[in-house]
Amino acid sequence: MSWLLRPLAEQAAALRTGQVTSTALVEEALGRIAQLDGALGAFLRVTVDLARRQAAEADRRLAVEGEGAPDLCGIPVAIKDVLCTEGVETTAASRILAGFVPPYTATAVRRLAEAGAVSLGKCNCDEFAMGSSTENSAYQLTRNPHAPDRVPGGSSGGSAAAVAAGLAPAALGTDTGGSIRQPAALCGVVGFKPTYGRVSRYGLIAFASSLDQVGPFTRTGGDAARIYRTIAGPDPRDATCSPRPVEDPMPTLELGLEGLRLGVPAEYVASGLEPGVQRVFEAACQRLVAAGAQLEPVSLPSTRYALAAYYVIAPAEASSNLARMDGLRFGPGRPGAVTLREQLEGARHLGFGPEVRRRIMLGTYALSRGYYDAYYRRAQQVRTLVAQDFHRAFAGVDAIIAPTSPTVAFRLGERLSDPLAMYQSDVLTVPFSLAGVPAASVPAGLADGLPVGLQVAAPAFADAHCLRVARGVERALGVAEPPDLARRAAP
Ligand code: GLN
Repeated sequence: MSWLLRPLAEQAAALRTGQVTSTALVEEALGRIAQLDGALGAFLRVTVDLARRQAAEADRRLAVEGEGAPDLCGIPVAIKDVLCTEGVETTAASRILAGFVPPYTATAVRRLAEAGAVSLGKCNCDEFAMGSSTENSAYQLTRNPHAPDRVPGGSSGGSAAAVAAGLAPAALGTDTGGSIRQPAALCGVVGFKPTYGRVSRYGLIAFASSLDQVGPFTRTGGDAARIYRTIAGPDPRDATCSPRPVEDPMPTLELGLEGLRLGVPAEYVASGLEPGVQRVFEAACQRLVAAGAQLEPVSLPSTRYALAAYYVIAPAEASSNLARMDGLRFGPGRPGAVTLREQLEGARHLGFGPEVRRRIMLGTYALSRGYYDAYYRRAQQVRTLVAQDFHRAFAGVDAIIAPTSPTVAFRLGERLSDPLAMYQSDVLTVPFSLAGVPAASVPAGLADGLPVGLQVAAPAFADAHCLRVARGVERALGVAEPPDLARRAAP
């Protein structure tokens, strides 16, 4: 089996005994990308030379530091294209940033590099991370590795597909309303959105600043914990990043589910789930009970307003964040523009895709005089109610579980002309985002051959606990098989 399909701990051990080198791992990844990614479309840019240089450096470091080297030293990773990488073009999958080569690196990416991880390149996503299918990328489609006629989810679809297909053992994504958890569920891998403020947003191209969070995609919960503890923690460059020290998830990771009370929100399983998703979720619940967990119904009554509130708050913040995109130094330009206004209008007209324009218009409207109180303020009030629901629920249970997405991966094109249907994909992930709590998605099984994800959430800053429960769920349910395509590929 390919090294890249094995847990990071096994790769790390093999790197230390000399059974494999970082250069060999990276060449294997580059080979698989060359073989599979033409059809998959997970990467926007593969940084071959940089990856080879970093791998050679990691091999030297492993030779010198041996067991003392960080556990990610020499491990290849992929990066969502909304995270800035010094010297490597970063577009957020938007035309308006075509040709933008950042002069600095995002903190999360820098921390991986400092730990010796090797960056393979930048992954496709929805433009500015707005979407649930990666179809809003201005550059290319990404296909689901389990079914090439279906979406990988979004917005971090390229990162999810890369890990599912074994092109990289881990990838970074971002989650504002579900963009790590939903594609992880649809591609059958693990995704983890840490507590808001746990991972620095420095160098992340902002979508909705009060919600955006960086986190990992991996094949296992243990791997997610390894990436998480490397990227988490205070950063003087991001004032919204919490100064609290990070609790290491590794010592408690394998404690299992015995005696844990897991809350199942009545509102999330009552209706609206595809029958296949419902079946997989119910079967998973039985296995969690068999593994020693106690399931308890909990109620999150404000949840029914969460999606509507999110689609006011996120576009409002996006409309102000995107006001900086002037198209003056990169992007499609505006030949013939004389005034600044002509330049701005022209560059934005050519540079932004339809969904981004829709969000800017929604957000600008919601913030405008006379409508602010009716929409933005009310949405913020709903946000508080949603957070209070979670607070109350967590007083009685150790974690909350729910399906991640109401459906399995849908067909390419199916929801493109119906924005509300697309927004519905986030109905089960958005409430956790509004509350700012940590949440993971773990593979729960297959419905008609397509992956279904189970979401695990814990109170704010109980990230280590969330990962422990996610790992316990994973052990109870069995680690998901990679898609056929990944198993068939060489080596
Ligand atoms: N699909 C949601 C949206 O379009 C969430 C996106 C995200 O988390 N970045 O806003």
